[in-house]
Amino acid sequence: MLFPIRCFSCGKPLAHLWEKYKNEVESGRQPGDVLNDLGIRRYCCRRMFLTHVEYIDELITYEIQSRQKVIRR
Ligand SMILES: [Zn+2]
Repeated sequence: MLFPIRCFSCGKPLAHLWEKYKNEVESGRQPGDVLNDLGIRRYCCRRMFLTHVEYIDELITYEIQSRQKVIRR
Protein backbone atom coordinates (compact mmCIF):
# COMPACT_ATOMS: atom_id res chain seq x y z
CA MET A 1 0.00 0.00 0.00
CA LEU A 2 1.58 3.28 1.04
CA PHE A 3 5.12 3.31 2.35
CA PRO A 4 5.06 3.41 6.18
CA ILE A 5 5.95 6.70 7.85
CA ARG A 6 8.26 5.03 10.38
CA CYS A 7 10.17 1.77 10.73
CA PHE A 8 7.94 -0.80 12.42
CA SER A 9 10.71 -1.95 14.77
CA CYS A 10 12.79 1.07 15.79
CA GLY A 11 10.48 3.96 14.87
CA LYS A 12 12.93 5.86 12.68
CA PRO A 13 11.13 8.15 10.22
CA LEU A 14 11.64 6.75 6.72
CA ALA A 15 8.82 7.91 4.45
CA HIS A 16 10.67 11.04 3.31
CA LEU A 17 13.36 8.79 1.77
CA TRP A 18 11.04 6.49 -0.20
CA GLU A 19 10.82 8.59 -3.39
CA LYS A 20 14.60 9.06 -3.53
CA TYR A 21 15.12 5.32 -3.02
CA LYS A 22 12.53 4.38 -5.63
CA ASN A 23 13.91 6.76 -8.25
CA GLU A 24 17.50 5.60 -7.73
CA VAL A 25 16.57 1.90 -7.93
CA GLU A 26 14.43 2.46 -11.04
CA SER A 27 17.39 4.20 -12.67
CA GLY A 28 19.39 0.97 -12.29
CA ARG A 29 21.37 1.31 -9.05
CA GLN A 30 21.65 -1.55 -6.57
CA PRO A 31 19.18 -1.20 -3.66
CA GLY A 32 21.88 -1.87 -1.05
CA ASP A 33 24.10 0.93 -2.38
CA VAL A 34 21.18 3.37 -2.41
CA LEU A 35 20.31 2.51 1.20
CA ASN A 36 23.93 3.04 2.22
CA ASP A 37 23.96 6.45 0.54
CA LEU A 38 20.69 7.41 2.24
CA GLY A 39 22.19 6.50 5.63
CA ILE A 40 19.89 3.56 6.32
CA ARG A 41 22.19 1.24 8.29
CA ARG A 42 19.94 -0.85 10.55
CA TYR A 43 18.55 -3.99 8.98
CA CYS A 44 15.11 -3.34 10.50
CA CYS A 45 14.93 -0.11 8.50
CA ARG A 46 16.49 -1.61 5.36
CA ARG A 47 13.85 -4.34 5.23
CA MET A 48 11.17 -1.61 5.14
CA PHE A 49 12.52 -0.49 1.75
CA LEU A 50 13.50 -3.88 0.38
CA THR A 51 10.18 -5.58 1.13
CA HIS A 52 7.78 -2.76 0.29
CA VAL A 53 5.42 -3.37 -2.65
CA GLU A 54 3.51 -0.40 -4.03
CA TYR A 55 0.05 -1.47 -5.14
CA ILE A 56 -2.01 1.60 -4.26
CA ASP A 57 -2.62 2.41 -7.95
CA GLU A 58 -4.07 -1.06 -8.59
CA LEU A 59 -6.18 -0.83 -5.44
CA ILE A 60 -7.61 2.52 -6.51
CA THR A 61 -8.79 0.91 -9.78
CA TYR A 62 -10.80 -1.68 -7.83
CA GLU A 63 -12.16 1.02 -5.55
CA ILE A 64 -13.42 3.00 -8.56
CA GLN A 65 -14.96 -0.13 -10.12
CA SER A 66 -16.80 -1.02 -6.92
CA ARG A 67 -18.19 2.52 -6.62
CA GLN A 68 -19.42 2.42 -10.21
CA LYS A 69 -21.32 -0.81 -9.45
CA VAL A 70 -23.00 0.90 -6.49
CA ILE A 71 -23.99 3.86 -8.65
CA ARG A 72 -25.52 1.57 -11.33
CA ARG A 73 -27.86 -0.11 -8.83
ZN1 LIG B 1 14.41 0.43 12.00
